[in-house]
Amino acid sequence: MTQTLSPIHVIGGGLAGSEAAWQIAEAGVPVVLHEMRPERMTDAHKTQGLAELVCSNSFRSDDASTNAVGLIHAEMRKLGSLIMASGDAHQVPAGSALAVDRDGFSDAVTAALAAHPKVTIARGEITGLPPAEWDSVIIATGPLTSPALADAVRGLTGEDGLAFFDAIAPIVHFDSIDMSKAWFQSRYDKAGPGGTGADYINCPLDRDQYEAFIDALLAGDKTEFKEFEGTPYFDGCLPVEVMAERGRETLRHGPMKPVGLTNPHNPTVKPYGIVQLRQDNALGTLYNMVGFQTKLKYGAQADIFRMIPGLEQAVFARLGGIHRNTYLNSPKLLDGGLRLKAQPRLRFAGQITGCEGYVESAAVGLMAGRFAAAERLGKDIAPPPATTALGALLGHITGGHIVTIDAGPRSFQPMNINFGLFPPLDRAPKAEDGKRLRGKDKTIAKKKMLTARALSDLDGWIERNLPPQI
Ligand SMILES: Cc1cc2nc3c(=O)[nH]c(=O)nc-3n(C[C@H](O)[C@H](O)[C@H](O)COP(=O)(O)OP(=O)(O)OC[C@H]3O[C@@H](n4cnc5c(N)ncnc54)[C@H](O)[C@@H]3O)c2cc1C
Repeated sequence: MTQTLSPIHVIGGGLAGSEAAWQIAEAGVPVVLHEMRPERMTDAHKTQGLAELVCSNSFRSDDASTNAVGLIHAEMRKLGSLIMASGDAHQVPAGSALAVDRDGFSDAVTAALAAHPKVTIARGEITGLPPAEWDSVIIATGPLTSPALADAVRGLTGEDGLAFFDAIAPIVHFDSIDMSKAWFQSRYDKAGPGGTGADYINCPLDRDQYEAFIDALLAGDKTEFKEFEGTPYFDGCLPVEVMAERGRETLRHGPMKPVGLTNPHNPTVKPYGIVQLRQDNALGTLYNMVGFQTKLKYGAQADIFRMIPGLEQAVFARLGGIHRNTYLNSPKLLDGGLRLKAQPRLRFAGQITGCEGYVESAAVGLMAGRFAAAERLGKDIAPPPATTALGALLGHITGGHIVTIDAGPRSFQPMNINFGLFPPLDRAPKAEDGKRLRGKDKTIAKKKMLTARALSDLDGWIERNLPPQI
């Protein structure tokens, strides 16, 4: 006897919502996909197509063996992703990146969902909390969630729970910081809650280095806010280059103040300015530059921040930015299955969970869809292993980030997929002849081991959690 399942409701037909709806439907569960366009548009969308790409047409690197974005592509393909299948079908030449014909891509996603017997597409804005009779809902309304729904969500999460702008400081891979120049110490050795008194990495600048750094900040290429974004500067969240414009000494009295710290490499000389980095993830592989939110262009950021002693060879897991966005304080509010702890019938997916990027948004949609479908079917499903790109991203969003209490923007900021989110390897890579590798060869070999581990662990997870239907 076939049982009639009540539908899961997905709100938002963007990258995440379209993928979530597809995964649910493919699992045999009915789904209603609510999309407000064209009845109501956002400030960035121009069409009524599902999964519209609002800016670039690139899904970034498609190299699954040495790039974390390429790896997440490969993992999503293994899980029958509609976003990846439509992207692959509408690829345009872009070297090792996957770029797509944006209209062909969006049309393909829209047509596939419209043709699926388990999918109903309902056009119209959801203007408040979903009705109580919707017992399983995925909210995937993105960075430009309509104000009425955002207000309703904020009512559930509290003022601090949902932010309307991000203020992203660059994040550096710990193993690329030169600790022969930098050192661990908290200001005045204060331990603070959960701290040790040596929680920050400090990079010292002498007067000439500081002046050159300020000159570079002032001259660096900046990105402008889009008209609809406004200028969201608020206290404690000024971009570094704007602080520099306010006076050459402003940074020395702000995030670069050289007080309460002694350089053990040169204890008798007081640094003129100090850049601090704070641990960003529980694994201790990533450190963020405290107070360094910025609107500098990416290329300029890498060049200018590598002028800082200790960061000359820095590898950036994430560069800085400030954008109009709508995203939850997910590590606090969501459980490991992307459910709102305060109201578990509501799941969240996509950029609103604090991931960043088309592909990452779709990846979180994929997981939310799988989790919701399994729940509806009464099946247990474990989260993907932390060693996979999907699991690493999920883990960061729902708990891996370390929350800190410094002044300024809140510490959980949007995150793209990167190797710093993965648990370290349990052995160092070796050359074929057994010799130790160094430099670039070692970096590439490490990435290859991380991606091979991820794909094999994902296969194991699929076998255990998603047995083929007989
Ligand atoms: C201006 C801008 C440019 C960006 N550029 C890039 C880029 O170049 N590359 C990149 O990788 N990422 C980019 N991003 C970041 C991000 O990856 C994309 O915004 C991505 O589309 C997010 O996916 P999503 O599914 O979470 O949200 P979206 O794709 O925005 O989908 C959300 C959907 O929900 C609908 N919706 C909103 N509120 C409601 C409601 N109340 N009821 C019903 N429907 C609703 C919207 O109409 C939309 O279709 C950009 C973001 C912005 C804002």
